[in-house]
Amino acid sequence: MVVRGARIRGREGLWDVGVRGGRIVEVSRRVGERGEEEFEAGGRLLAPNFFDMHIHLDSVLTLGDPRHNESGTLLEGIEIWSERRERLGVEEALERMREAVYWMVSNGTTYLRTHIDCTAPTDAAAEAVLRLREEVGDIMDIQVTAFPQSGILTDEGNVEMLERAVERWADNVGMIPHIEFTREDGVRSIEIAFELAKRYGKPIDGHVDETDDEHSRFLEVVAAKTIREKMFGRVSASHVTASHGYNGAYLAKLYRMLRRAEVTIIANPLINIHLQGRFDTLPKRRGMAPIKEMAGFGVNVALGHDCVMDPWFPLGIGSMLHALYVAVLVGHMTGYGELKRTFDLITVNAAKAYGVTDYGIEAGSRADFQILDGRDELEVLARLRPPLYVFKNGKLVCENTKHETKIHNNGKTVRIDPGKVPYLPD
Ligand SMILES: [Zn+2]
Repeated sequence: MVVRGARIRGREGLWDVGVRGGRIVEVSRRVGERGEEEFEAGGRLLAPNFFDMHIHLDSVLTLGDPRHNESGTLLEGIEIWSERRERLGVEEALERMREAVYWMVSNGTTYLRTHIDCTAPTDAAAEAVLRLREEVGDIMDIQVTAFPQSGILTDEGNVEMLERAVERWADNVGMIPHIEFTREDGVRSIEIAFELAKRYGKPIDGHVDETDDEHSRFLEVVAAKTIREKMFGRVSASHVTASHGYNGAYLAKLYRMLRRAEVTIIANPLINIHLQGRFDTLPKRRGMAPIKEMAGFGVNVALGHDCVMDPWFPLGIGSMLHALYVAVLVGHMTGYGELKRTFDLITVNAAKAYGVTDYGIEAGSRADFQILDGRDELEVLARLRPPLYVFKNGKLVCENTKHETKIHNNGKTVRIDPGKVPYLPD
């Protein structure tokens, strides 16, 4: 297969990309050989596929079921979810997850990391996500994190539930120290997560300090544990929104620890700006971790979409361009050069934390790329349109025309309509 006439990040002019056996074999001004399949990029940006580093597939597309979140707070979302998760079923969860994955692929994301609630009363969501992984393996890479939504020490038996999930189905160990009852419990919950990570040889992917409370300082504990346990590069901390309220002197120390620990910070701009600041009087805080400053200090920063039409977020179509658009505005990353560099947050920085090493547009890399609707990062971000074509392992997996979106998976073609609200009748 050959794609002709594309722009590529970090290179001048137009390029052809040749693909064979799922790999990029040539990037040159003109690929001489004729491809069995040829695609014309027309001067558009050809970029590696996006990563969504934080998404809750178990709750996607449950908006309004059993009721809507009227306060817009994290805590009301958790209450609604604790009712909804009682009725989790494998088939219904699989159906919602599959739809969300199609939306994501149609928006150029072919790698995701999902949190699955391991303190839910049933294993239905875990079972569904494992079946999903088999079913959509051609179009999406899926990593699963065992996520103790209710806390590790808040109820008897939760430690065992987390361990069982790590042993049976999770790729990563999750935690949520700011939800634990006390500071001491929060610290202990981090220790438990690290003990499990070491025992089962798995990375850590935690919800950390997702609050406006500037006294929530579990990120420092995570960084210190990572350094002491020598888990460099194997720990991610999501949200860390409390850090937007830390003072400068403390942040300067924290950035150093994070860089040394090689902890990846995953901000979720859509959900952070929506859920945080709810207890502030005017002026209200921005709700997102200071990712510009963190990245400027050499900390690895990536992004997640987090929620798609669920108890925590009523909107979203699973587009990482939407997440990036909000991130650059909220994070003041809108200088011309820095705006273009922010594409790293949903591509190379995420690949590093995800453990994908053969990623990028060069000979030898896996042929996972898309043709975006714009000539450079700035045009793509300004337009917010889905990619024209998405390729995975050298195969066309999605095409977006003016009138429809087609997904090619497992020998079948499916037509989808991203953004269709689940509870509205046709
Ligand atoms: Zn989350």
